Amino acid sequence: MVGSGQHINFWKDNWFGEPLVELMSIPKELYSSLLSSVPCFRKGSCWTIPTFMNRHFPKIIEKIAKTTIVGNLDRLVWQKTLDGTLSLKASYNEVMNYPIQLNLCKFIWSANIAPSKSFTTWRIMHKKMPKDDNLRKRGCAIVFICNLCNSHSEEEDHLFLHCRFASKLWDWINNVYSIKLNNSSLQSIFADCAKLKNKQVKEVLITCAINTLRTIWFCRNQNRFEGILLTFSQAIRRIKRDTSLAGNSSPASASATGFIFTDYTRNRLGMTNYHFRNL
Ligand SMILES: [Zn+2]
Repeated sequence: MVGSGQHINFWKDNWFGEPLVELMSIPKELYSSLLSSVPCFRKGSCWTIPTFMNRHFPKIIEKIAKTTIVGNLDRLVWQKTLDGTLSLKASYNEVMNYPIQLNLCKFIWSANIAPSKSFTTWRIMHKKMPKDDNLRKRGCAIVFICNLCNSHSEEEDHLFLHCRFASKLWDWINNVYSIKLNNSSLQSIFADCAKLKNKQVKEVLITCAINTLRTIWFCRNQNRFEGILLTFSQAIRRIKRDTSLAGNSSPASASATGFIFTDYTRNRLGMTNYHFRNL
């Protein structure tokens, strides 16, 4: 909590939700030279923010302007409690709710899913996609806008999880599978998939999630490089097609239990007229 701000590093400390170095994707090599404290950017009760920030990060500026200055004392607060104190109870709840580490490789790399699709998910999880924020870190001067909504910078979580387009697709999956996937992160999505008891249903849902990520990337590239704006319905059709094909090529299809996989895929995705392998 900001008081005088003298003990708060303007760039590196988390004083208004997230450190500026992360929000602005500042390369780590520059961290050691960022020594300014908060008062360096205040004059009386006003903020004096560098012009380049006004130009390139208007949303961050808005957030900074809304920051409340409380008294003269800088104070560390625990964000997850109302009064900011870290009680024993809050610590216990935090530890107990900590997500179980999943072996995500097991989900991503599967015989049901084409390696090219799994590879996209793997790259997203390791933040290796050639998106604007990653390219900027490598020094490429590049537009910084999401091609799917044109109203937000293209960051990893935004593009694949929170963008209007992506959210609509995750909502569609929730609706189709009567589930509520927590799309706050990729890990939480797969953790929710993993909770399903039925092995075949779980396989279909994971395949569908991986195909959704791949489709989001495809739609983004189509718009950016080909100028083609795919509609939500076209994206859904693509996910349905890829998921049903995965169902047909599943090793499980060769066994009696494979019927569940393909039937489930077909029924859940509403594809009664789709051509399926004649089992
Ligand atoms: Zn977007």
